[in-house]
Amino acid sequence: MGKIVRTLSEDGSVLCAALDSTDIVREIAKMHGSSPVVTAALGRLSTAAAMMGAMLKYKDDELTLRINGSGPCGTLTAVSDYRGNVKCSVSNPVVNIPTKPDGSLDVETAVGCDGSLTVIKDMELKEPYCGQVPLVSGNIAEDITSYYAISEQLPTVVALGISFGERAEIEAAAGFMVQIVPPVMDKAVEILERNLSNMDDISAMLEKHLTPEDIAMTALSGLGAEILDSWECGYFCGCSREKTEQILVSLGREEIEKLIKEQKETEVCCHFCNKKYIFSADDMSKLLKETKS
Ligand SMILES: [Zn+2]
Repeated sequence: MGKIVRTLSEDGSVLCAALDSTDIVREIAKMHGSSPVVTAALGRLSTAAAMMGAMLKYKDDELTLRINGSGPCGTLTAVSDYRGNVKCSVSNPVVNIPTKPDGSLDVETAVGCDGSLTVIKDMELKEPYCGQVPLVSGNIAEDITSYYAISEQLPTVVALGISFGERAEIEAAAGFMVQIVPPVMDKAVEILERNLSNMDDISAMLEKHLTPEDIAMTALSGLGAEILDSWECGYFCGCSREKTEQILVSLGREEIEKLIKEQKETEVCCHFCNKKYIFSADDMSKLLKETKS
C-alpha cells in the first residue's frame, strides 16, 4: 500500500502532503506492462493525482488528471478518489527512447510538451470543475505547479520522483506537494522558501529512504508543523460489470445494434485494470431493450 501524510503549519497557512507511492508505481508497471519511461510518467501523474485527490473535501469527490503532450506515449490519465486511491491509463504503454546524457529516463520526450494538462474535479453538490493549462515541460511536476498558479491561483510546489534499479525494477517512488493557504503569511512563506531551497531533490530523498513523515515535516520545518493525518492508499480501479453495462447503454441503440450485427460477443476491456467483460448476443439484446435512443 501507499502512504499519505499531511502536515499543517502552526498558523494554518501552509499545508503539505507527502506520499510514498512505491507500491502504487510497482502495481502500475505490472498492470500496464509499461516500459520504464512510461512507468515513470504514469507513476508521476498517479502520485500527483493521489495527493491532489487527498485535498478533496467529500467522500464521493473524484479527481482526474489528463495529459496530452503529443509525445510517443500518447494520452496519460490518472483518476483519484478523496483518499488518494488511484488508477491510471496510457495510450502506448511501451515506448523506448534513449535516456538523457546523465542516464535518467527522458520522461519529457516520452510525454511531449505540445499540448495541455486537464484537471477535472467531480465534486459532490457541485457541477464538475474543469481546468486546462498548456504544458510547460512535460515533466509533470512542473506542469501541475503551473496549473495551480494559472488555474487556481494557489501557490503550490510539487515534486515527484521514481527511482529504478539496475534491472529497471522500481526501487522507490514518492512525491510531495506544498500549498500556501490564503491568507498568505509573509513570514511563513519566507521560511518555506528557505526550506524548499535547502531540501534535497526528491531522488536524493528516495536514496536516503526518507518516509513521507520525514518529507512532510522537513518541508515545513521551523513552522511549528504537526502531522494532521496519515492513511494508506493504493492502486484501485473499481470497475464492474454493472458499470460496463451502463457505458454500453450510453452508446445508444444504433451503436449497440451495430455491435450485435458485427460480432458474436462484445468484449469490453477496462483500460485502467485490463479486466475483460464479455457480453453475449443475448446480453446485448437485453441491453438494447434498456436503451432509449
Ligand atoms: Zn477496471
